[in-house]
This record gives sequence, structure tokens and C-alpha cells, in this order.
Amino acid sequence: MTPRRTKESAAPTASLLLVNGRILTMAGGSAGALAVRGDRILAVGRERDLLALRGPKTAVVDLRGRLALPGFTDSHVHLRPLGRTLSQVNLVSARTLAAALRRVAARTRRTPKGHWVTGAGFDKNRWGEAFPDRRDLDRVAPGHPVILRSRDGHSVWVNSLALRKCRISRETKSPPGGVIVRDAAGEPTGILQERAIALIHGCPESDAGGRGAGDLRAAFRSLLRHGITSVHAMEESETFGDLERLKETGRLPLRVTIYRPAADLDTLIGAGIRSGFGDEWLRIGGVKLLVDGSLGSQTAWLFDPYEGSRKARGVPVLYGRDLRDVVHRAAEAGLACAIHAIGDRANAEALDALERVRAIPTPLPHRIEHAQLLRASDIPRFAASRIVASMQPCHIPGDIDAAERYWGKRSRWAYPVRSLLRTGASVIFGSDAPVEAADVMFGLCAAVRRQTRDGRPPAGWYRREEGVGRLAALRAYTVEPARATAEAGLKGKLLPGYLADIVVLSEDVLHIPLRNLIRPRVALVLVGGRIRLRRRSD
Ligand SMILES: [Zn+2]
Repeated sequence: MTPRRTKESAAPTASLLLVNGRILTMAGGSAGALAVRGDRILAVGRERDLLALRGPKTAVVDLRGRLALPGFTDSHVHLRPLGRTLSQVNLVSARTLAAALRRVAARTRRTPKGHWVTGAGFDKNRWGEAFPDRRDLDRVAPGHPVILRSRDGHSVWVNSLALRKCRISRETKSPPGGVIVRDAAGEPTGILQERAIALIHGCPESDAGGRGAGDLRAAFRSLLRHGITSVHAMEESETFGDLERLKETGRLPLRVTIYRPAADLDTLIGAGIRSGFGDEWLRIGGVKLLVDGSLGSQTAWLFDPYEGSRKARGVPVLYGRDLRDVVHRAAEAGLACAIHAIGDRANAEALDALERVRAIPTPLPHRIEHAQLLRASDIPRFAASRIVASMQPCHIPGDIDAAERYWGKRSRWAYPVRSLLRTGASVIFGSDAPVEAADVMFGLCAAVRRQTRDGRPPAGWYRREEGVGRLAALRAYTVEPARATAEAGLKGKLLPGYLADIVVLSEDVLHIPLRNLIRPRVALVLVGGRIRLRRRSD
């Protein structure tokens, strides 16, 4: 490959040279070296050609044969909750109810009496049949209100003191779109789902302010460690202001496209803000809507009942005319919709609403978040209406057992990544952090192998049908997310003129044996030509 340069005056000098590597451009080629000038890529080509761009101040980094790729985009994260999770009781790895309760007890001992104890990541599907109970928590924390969010974020588990503080009793009705789970006697069990979660107030978990910028910085550190240089963030309203302040003071270490809650729609319209507003560090993606719940809490909205039930079809949250109205108003105002839909019925609803606004141009494409279970006949509708499928393969390992149990044979069309690609749909990958860690290698591995963490099933779960190749998976972390934010000429490839957002991996993810796919580590991360992470051992 001959060196390609931007149109600048003759022989500009590079600020940084990456040499002795394998630069995968994601534009159909590879090269040995790459030159950066300021925040952009100056040239990609042969090392001996690019060394001509070296000046007295040029930094030179020897990649020692390692693979460099465009910096990854995580297309679905929750920045503030991610930062907050890093400081809460972490229940993600609690394999039993007893283990979870031990962690809560330990935190309770370090927390002044009467103060909230918060945690996240519990997964009752790993603990057995039923949801846990407020009494379990009362035993370890009688004098502290406790709120624990489920792994999927669609349920909370609270103790009796938390219920009392928030005046939730047997007389309290479940709000529309939410459920207060009750025992046979009609008493709340301590599990609240979907919109009922908002009944809990006054705890740090529900406080909008929280720790603000501190949480965001903790989230950024964890993202950069995984080679992520851009995110599409689904955030609460206040987060935008905090991100603005970080940007103004030059403390935004990676690029953020933010999707605001549907409740902000009128504010955005009133201010004349359209999708794409902002700059390459911080921009508005659009609005986030929620049609249903999740598989983990059996609130995903289905056409046919959950396996083993005669009528439970999940919990629809926003649908029908209400959904169509919001989507229409957003599209008319030039705002793209990011619609959360997990169950097959929810996805069909979201597709219906988006197809109706097909003729209204928006600066960024509309997208469906998760698209976990589809009817086969709905798959071609994504490409036909240029609706982006925003998926999280990292959920596959943890979801296989629950999907088999609750969706049964329908699971053939769960996470149908390859089928969507075959129809020409744009598929983008993310983590939904803090639901899962924002670990790109783990997600890539899950998209390719489709197995549980302990390697079941050996041949992969519908892998022949829905597994994808490594390059296709990498595209969903690089090229495609850039297209979804209308930045295809700026990001997602390593070409002259593109932003110098680059990740270097410790091993060649395209050529190592499949069983080692989880192994590559992030050795170096550049954002806008600046080194943001460099692992010493590499
Ligand atoms: Zn999410």
C-alpha cells in the first residue's frame, strides 16, 4: 500500500508515528505504519515511506508487530450508572443468594445506621426459581434502607425499611407500566419492576445529582481500558450538562454521542436541537424510548406467552398510538429515535412506528436497541427502512439458559445477528454497561462463539445460523457505529484525514485460535492523536 496523505503543503511533519505494526484500516487494507498529525491521521503506509514524515519533535512508537485498529465504539452504554456501579455493592459475580447477602451485610457494617445501602447486578435467574424477598435483606440489614438493582436494570429488590420510607404498602397500587410484586397475602415482597421502580425515592440510586462528574470519570477510565474511544450513551437529562462541563475544560477523554430520555423531547424541540447537534467530542444522537422490559425479569413483550405460562406475555411500557405519536414528533423535529425493544412483540411495535416515519428525513438513522428476539418475518424490515439494529452480544453467554427456559423454540431467532446482516441491515455492537462490563473482547467473542461462560453448548448456540465472523464483529464496533452517527468520513477507519482514534491489541484478534479469542489485551489507546492509555507490560 502506498502512503496516502491529506492535502496539505509539501512534507508536513508527523506528531506521532506508529511503526513496525499491522495497521488494519477497516477499509479493505493493512499497512505497517501510520502517521498522526495533531488529532488526525496524516498517512498510512510503508514504514520506510512514512519515516520521511519524521521531524525533530515526532514521537515514535514501536508496535512490535502488534495489531492496530480504529478505536472501538460501544454503541449502548449508561455512563453515570456505570460509574456509580463501580462504587456500589457489586452483585454481578454473586453466584448464590447467600453470597449476595454476605456482600450486603459487609457494606451495611461500614455504613452509618439509617443511610441507604445501594447495589446492582443481582441475577435471580442464577439463584433458582423465585425472586428474592425483602425478608432476606431484613435479616442482614434491619436498620438500613437497601435498594439493589437487577442485572438487567428492570427490577429492584428492596428491604422492609426502604418500603416503609417510601410509603409502599399493601394499599399501594402498581403504577401503569410497572408492577409491585406481592405475596399470596397481598403484601409487597420487596421486588418492584419497570415503572414501579420510580416509587423508591430519596436514595442515592434515584438521586439525579449523585456524584456527578466523579462518576463519569470512573466510567471513562473503565471504557478506555477496553479500547473504547467513542460511546453512544443512553443517559438521564442532567448528564448532558456534566459532559458539557468536562468538554469545556478539556477533560472529556473520549467521544460521546448522547441519547436523551423521551421526557426531554419537548425541551429539545423547543430549543431547535436536531440529531447530530454538537461537535466530534459531544453530540446529540436523539431520544431514547422504551417499549418493553427484559428477558431476565420476564417483562420483555412477546406475541405468545412465556414458556410454562398460559398468559404471561411481558410488560408493554410504551406502544400503539402513544409510541407512534412520540416517534412522529421526534422525526418531524429532526430527532432520531433509539427504541428499546427486547421481545418479538415489542420489536414489531417499534418497527411499525418507525416505518410510518420512513419518508421524514432525520440527520441520523433511527435505531432499535437490543432487538433480542425477532419474528423471522420482521428481520428484513430493518434494512428495508434503514433502521439500525443496536445489539449487545455480551448478553448472549448469560442469556442462553434463560432464553431456552422462557422463550423455548423461539430462541432460534434470538440475537439474530447473521440473519440481520444477510438482509443488509446495519448492525452495531455495545455492552449496555453497567449491565455487562464494557469489555469489547468479551462481546466480540460472544458474537462469534455464542456460548455460555463455561463453554456450552460446545458447537455454540445457533452458531451456524446466527454466529458471525471476527471481521464482521469488528465492523460492528468500528465502521458501523460511525455510520449510525453520520460520521462515516471521520471515524471507524484508519485513513488519512480521519480522527486519530486508535487501539493497539496485544494479540492479533483476527488470526489467533478461536479458543483464545478472549485473550487479547488493550496495549495502547489514542484518542484524537493523544495517548490515553499505555500498558507498561506490553
Ligand atoms: Zn441500556
